[in-house]
Formats: sequence, structure tokens, C-alpha cells
Amino acid sequence: MTSNSVESINNLTRHARKAPITQLMEWYRALLQKWYCAHRDKYKDSGANTLSDWATHKVMDRMQKSAHWKVLGIDYGRLYQVDDRRRVHQVDLTFRTCTCRKWQLSGIPCGHVIAVSRKIGCTDCSHLALGWFRKTTLYSTYQDLVYPVGEPSSWVRPDGLQVVKPPNMNFRTAGRPKNTEAIVVPPILVEHFELKQSLINMMTSDQFFGLEKDNPHDHIRWFNKITSTIKYRDVPNSMIKLMLFPFSLVGSRELARKRTPRSILLGNILVSKSSMILFLPQNDKSPT
Ligand SMILES: [Zn+2]
Repeated sequence: MTSNSVESINNLTRHARKAPITQLMEWYRALLQKWYCAHRDKYKDSGANTLSDWATHKVMDRMQKSAHWKVLGIDYGRLYQVDDRRRVHQVDLTFRTCTCRKWQLSGIPCGHVIAVSRKIGCTDCSHLALGWFRKTTLYSTYQDLVYPVGEPSSWVRPDGLQVVKPPNMNFRTAGRPKNTEAIVVPPILVEHFELKQSLINMMTSDQFFGLEKDNPHDHIRWFNKITSTIKYRDVPNSMIKLMLFPFSLVGSRELARKRTPRSILLGNILVSKSSMILFLPQNDKSPT
């Protein structure tokens, strides 16, 4: 659950976290101000026992599922046996337990408890859920106010503050590499290199049209399969792939030729079909 929250925040801040630290902090502050204000307003008129929308949905769902479960009393008002058609569980209303353990672990009544409630004529199960699922609790969670920090010129600066310099970022950081937004073309190690017509013909034999029925992932798989075996001395396979890729897309061949009358290695070629974007760097070495 903790990991999910972190992933959610990471996703939310994927653009904002590239900003300088002061702007990022202001972005977080503004976000909290918006959340706190909106949630406080949402829950301000809630009844004492009203469950949150999420918890209500859970209870309603379990109510429907348990509609035909069989309940037998062991000790009326306290202990019951519930047959859910797969297993038989015991519900103890005094100690607030069910032998399926869902009630104890989640704090929301399980289907067995709801079935018992129905049996004893109690249609509202909200009092059986733990307090933190109630709207009043949510309201009090957001009762603090988040204020703007004002203009930087109006801030009080305490004496003796340590100056923290930005970290040295000229090394590869640990962990998973950052998202790349463009394909980086490696330098060409040979001066005389030309794409053969037969290779280009191979690419144009099954071009990607970018239509709704066309699956870009299938196209990439096909492209990778047929290009992975092509070899040129001193030319990385990734370089060959990058040069051939535009020819596998409909319309890109003309674009490539227009920008580069004699060779596809000249100029900066941008191919965009559906979600596929390919950059080749400008002023690259050109074949003779
Ligand atoms: Zn249960």
C-alpha cells in the first residue's frame, strides 16, 4: 500500500520534479492547498455515521454477494454461523470478529457480518465499519489550512544559514535509468557506408500505415526481428536499425529523400507516425 502511494505521487510529479527545488516545493504546497480545500468542502456536511464513497461501495457490493447466504444463530445477539456456499464461518458481534478475518483485517464488515446484520433486522451496516472509513474522520483529516508562502521578498531570513550547493551530477546515478525521450544515435565508425537498395526494399515490403487496426508493437517486433541479423563491419546494429526504421513507415521515405537528396544520413530526420518518433542528429557524418 505504501509503495502504491509513492508510485502515485511519482506519476503525478513526473514533470514537476524536473523544475528547480523552490518551484517544486511551491508546486507541492499548491497541490496540498487544493486537495485540503476540496476535501474539506466535500465532507463538511457529512452525517456522523456516513461511510466514505469508497467504503460504501465495498459494503454495497458485499451486501449483494451475501444476499442468499444462510445464517443460523448459535447465541442470539452475539454469535452466529454463516454458510456462504463454500465455507461456514462464525461471526462474533461482541468481539467484532469473523473467522474469515476480513472484518478484523480491513475494518469493513465482511459478507458474513452483513448477512448476520440482515438476519437480525439491521439494514444499515455503517456502524460496523471502523471509524477511519467515516466521512467525519476524512473531514477532520483535512481540517488544517494550507496557506500560500507569500512573495520571496517578504520572507524572514534567519542568520547563519548554511549555503547548500547543488550536487555534482556529472556521473551516472544508481538505480534504474531515467526515461529517455528520444533515441540517441551512436557515432558512425566507418566513413564509407551506404544502405543497399535490397535492404530498403525489405523495409518497404511491410510498412506501418498508422491506421487504427495497425498495432505499433507488432510492427516494432517485426522490424526488430528482420533487422537483428543485418551486419556491417564497424557499424553497430542499433545504427542500422535507426537508419532503416523510417523506411518501414508509410510516407517517411519521401520525407527522408526530401530533406536528404543523396543520402539518408544527412540532415535531421524526424519521422512521426502514430506514437513512433525517431530523431537523427544534425550534421552527422555523411557517406561519400
Ligand atoms: Zn467473514
